Amino acid sequence: MAQKSIMEYSQVEEVVDSRSNPGTKHIVIIESGKPFCSCPGFKYHGHCHHLNEVDPNNIYSTVPAKAVQETPDDDKYKILGLLQDRAGEWITSNEIARETGYKVGNSQVEVRKAITILIELDNYPIISGHDGYKYAQTNDEIQEYITALEKRMFGLQRRITSLRTILNEVRK
Ligand SMILES: [Zn+2]
Repeated sequence: MAQKSIMEYSQVEEVVDSRSNPGTKHIVIIESGKPFCSCPGFKYHGHCHHLNEVDPNNIYSTVPAKAVQETPDDDKYKILGLLQDRAGEWITSNEIARETGYKVGNSQVEVRKAITILIELDNYPIISGHDGYKYAQTNDEIQEYITALEKRMFGLQRRITSLRTILNEVRK
């Protein structure tokens, strides 16, 4: 089977090492076939060699292209409005999709993408949990969410360490 080109993925995030600045990392993001890299070269030229370094086998976050319906960027403000109107209340991604006209199904991929942008690029205090998403009203709520994320991160680290050990034993 021919290897899929990274451009065929609609959502890709990978961290690549800088060659010129050891220790520095860049984030490559491909959204619906549109590439982005956090390096200065990409900002200046609109392309860079990091895009070629993304290994599709190492991608930790992918959404198949067919699961994504193109939505104008402005639509994310409908989600923001809904969350702010009901600040402090948990709202499921399914309800968010139904209330804002986003595509329902495929685990609300589009809603999750829009919320990621609202948090990570626009810096809105949206937190997530088992019951969906919530516009945080207090610092305590945000701190609690950070702690939960950290626990997950440590859990993932333990899992990686265990699997690496298994891998090394198999190789021997
Ligand atoms: Zn780059």
